[in-house]
Amino acid sequence: MTSPQHAQWIRSGRQWQLARPLLVLRDRLRGYGYTVYDLGDTGHLDRIPPEDHTPYSETGWPGATPYGWVTAIDVMPPSSTQLRTGLPSLQSLGGQLFADRQAGVPAARWLKYMNWGPADDRHAVHDRWEPGHQRSMSDDAGHIHLSCRSDVTSAKYGDAYDPIARLRGLDNPVIITVEDSMPFVAKSNTGQYYVCDLITSRPVPPEAVKDVLYLAKQLNYGHGSEGGEWTDGGWTRVGWTEAAFGTVRVLDTPTPGATPTFSGEVTVSGTLTVQPH
Ligand SMILES: [Zn+2]
Repeated sequence: MTSPQHAQWIRSGRQWQLARPLLVLRDRLRGYGYTVYDLGDTGHLDRIPPEDHTPYSETGWPGATPYGWVTAIDVMPPSSTQLRTGLPSLQSLGGQLFADRQAGVPAARWLKYMNWGPADDRHAVHDRWEPGHQRSMSDDAGHIHLSCRSDVTSAKYGDAYDPIARLRGLDNPVIITVEDSMPFVAKSNTGQYYVCDLITSRPVPPEAVKDVLYLAKQLNYGHGSEGGEWTDGGWTRVGWTEAAFGTVRVLDTPTPGATPTFSGEVTVSGTLTVQPH
C-alpha cells in the first residue's frame, strides 16, 4: 500500500538528494569496494512513519528533516574475497565509526545514530547521539546503518572523513570549521547550565540562564520535545556530562547574557594524506 507521504513525493516529481556527509562517505566507501545503499526500497518508502532512507523522513533530529533529503545509508558486508584482500569487516568499520563519534572527532559529528553488529553481522545494536550517547539492542542486523542529523544536510565538515584510512592508521589531517556545528543548551544534574557544541561546554552564570534560553530560541539552537531528555520547553538537554557534551571551557571575561560564539578552527593532527579512489 502506497503511503500518503510516498504518493505525495511521487506526485511532486520524485526528487531527492543525499545529505552531504553521507554522500561523501558513500562514494568513499564505494571507492574502497563496499556496496552502499541510500534511497530505500518500496518497503522503506511506504513505512509509517517514514524514516531516514526516505526523502520525507518524519524522524529527523534535532529538528524536522528538510524535504527531499535522504539522511541514511546502509553499508553491506564485504565478500569473502574482499575480506581476504584486506577490506575491513563491518565489525572493524563500525568500530571505527563508533569510536570516532564517541570520541567527538569533529568530522564525524554529523552521525545521529548507527545500527551495527559489534560481534557479527547477525546481531545489532543501536547507538545514538541525540546528543548524549545511548545504546540499545536493534533487530536491524546484517549491515551498518548510518543516519545523519537533520541540521547538517549541506554541511561540509565531514568531507575529509575517511574511516578506512583511520582504521589503517593513515589518518589525514582534518581541518573543519566549527561554525557548521549546532550549539545547544544543556544542564547537569546539579543544575549548572552550559552552552555545548559536543566539543566544548561553556558554563552559563545563573543570572544569564534566562537570556541564554531566549537566545537559543531566537537562533534556533538544537532542541527536542519536552520530556525525559529535554526540559525548559524542549530547549535544554538534561543529563549534561563533560565526556558526552564537550570539554568545559570557561571564557576569560564572561559577559552575562552574551551570545556564545562558535567560530574558529579545530585541527585534528594526523600523519599522512591518502586519497582513495
Ligand atoms: Zn538502513
